[in-house]
Amino acid sequence: MTAQSPGSVNPLTGEALPPVEGPAVAGIGSLVREARAAQARWAGTPFPERARRVRALGRRIVERRAEGAAILASELGRTPGMCEVAELNNAVAFAEAAIRTARTALAPHKVSLSMLDFPGKRAVVEPVARGVVGIIAPWNYPVSNFMKSLLPALLAGNAVVMKPSEQTPRSGAWLAGLAREAMGPDVVHLVQGGGDVGAELIEAGIDAVVFTGSVPTGRLVAAAAAARLIPCSLELGGKDAAIVLADADLDRTALGISQWSMFNSGQDCSSIERVYVEASVADAFVDKLTRVVRGLRVADGSGEAELGAIQNPSQLAIVEAHLLDAVSRGATIRCGGERTGVGNGFPGTVLDHCTHEMKVMTDETFGPVVAVCRVSDAEEAVRLANDSRYGLNGSVWTRDLDRGEALARRLDVGIALVNNHSLTGTMPELPWTGTKETGTGIASSQWAYSTFVRRRTLFIDKNKDPDPFWMPADESLQAFRELLAQKNLGGGVRVMLKLAGVLGRRVAAIRGLLD
Ligand code: NAD
Repeated sequence: MTAQSPGSVNPLTGEALPPVEGPAVAGIGSLVREARAAQARWAGTPFPERARRVRALGRRIVERRAEGAAILASELGRTPGMCEVAELNNAVAFAEAAIRTARTALAPHKVSLSMLDFPGKRAVVEPVARGVVGIIAPWNYPVSNFMKSLLPALLAGNAVVMKPSEQTPRSGAWLAGLAREAMGPDVVHLVQGGGDVGAELIEAGIDAVVFTGSVPTGRLVAAAAAARLIPCSLELGGKDAAIVLADADLDRTALGISQWSMFNSGQDCSSIERVYVEASVADAFVDKLTRVVRGLRVADGSGEAELGAIQNPSQLAIVEAHLLDAVSRGATIRCGGERTGVGNGFPGTVLDHCTHEMKVMTDETFGPVVAVCRVSDAEEAVRLANDSRYGLNGSVWTRDLDRGEALARRLDVGIALVNNHSLTGTMPELPWTGTKETGTGIASSQWAYSTFVRRRTLFIDKNKDPDPFWMPADESLQAFRELLAQKNLGGGVRVMLKLAGVLGRRVAAIRGLLD
């Protein structure tokens, strides 16, 4: 049984994109059961073979990047070139790094046990795939957001059900198609639609959910996962801050802050949305930043550009509301600030003289807007940067690397940087994680695997004798306990010899229970 998800619109051209088909909400349960049936075989597939297939997926993405970029561009209003750079071209390296990370995360952990306390025993903690993992994604990076979780989930031996955003269903379907070619059709599944489909997926029997999206939806997902007692990883919004110290290399800093506030038109959970700059260099810094941002081209369908359109009208409305609020409270627009008039196009916008209570400083704007606040010193900058509901990336820009490192450590964020921002999102070996309302999840790295595997303790006992602390509770047990305590307090050879002697008495007493 299939259903059509609502059609979406090309954000640049306004052209209506046809609706896509996916299983009807009522069919999601049986799809999860199909995935579960396939998962047992997939988990039994040796790791090198799973890795080979993940590698093949990486290759397919790069080989078919032109096709993928065209689909992404139509849904996102970016140029195909931007889509290739942001989401497709590094897929092979990404897969290799994900495989290396998986080897570490999935290695069994042997625990050494004291021969005296636990004779003849060994224990190992080993990862066991959760089963079927649901991945619910947002629209801003419709391929790479999936890749962060899809690859580790598969490498760990899970089957996956992908749920793309209703704004970018074709990009999700393209990736799912390639993943199915690489893994076999039954290990990766796809559902299409809006919030009702995402909610049903969690109800439909999946064993873990990875959610990336907004804070309000994240709360609903967390509650639904809690009701089902399944693990849930949440990667939510951001309001990243950059701190520019007076000794920073202002040229490089202006270029770097422009890059990471404007990349993907600022529709990035880790976009630099707030800049705290020391007052003594603020004029020079803002001038340089404005010069760079003003020069960024917005896509208009005629060729390459640095910025795409805003993906959807609701997001555009938020950007404009934040600007209006800032200007009404005294901020000045140094460049940008008005629609381009081509689709949802909006130019790079620099706001100066922003203050702490403005929406551009407190709420996620998710657009090509960078708000600058002048501060008296680094202490004020750190205090204001930390006074936020969010905590994803935070950066300090300075020539004094030691001071930068010390200040970065004081930022209440998941990823603290000096002289750069946001770029670790493409590195599978590093945890992508936040604090506060950015969510509790960890995407990428060995530490993300608590979502994808549970840990099983396997305990093997080859002791032929009963254990010395078993019943009966006679005088030999008391003697044994006492000697054990003395041994643990550092008792020497004398205690050990006594222990050896009492062990024999213990075993005889325990076996005596059979008489
Ligand atoms: P959104 O919350 O509107 O939607 C995200 C996904 O959740 C979509 O697939 C949607 O259909 C689904 N959904 C909606 N209601 C649901 C429900 N009740 N149950 C289950 N699923 C449901 O978010 P969006 O507008 O698509 O994405 C933008 C947000 O994502 C921004 O806040 C951004 O910061 C955040 N984001 C965070 C990260 C990160 O790593 N922290 C990365 C990318 C985007």
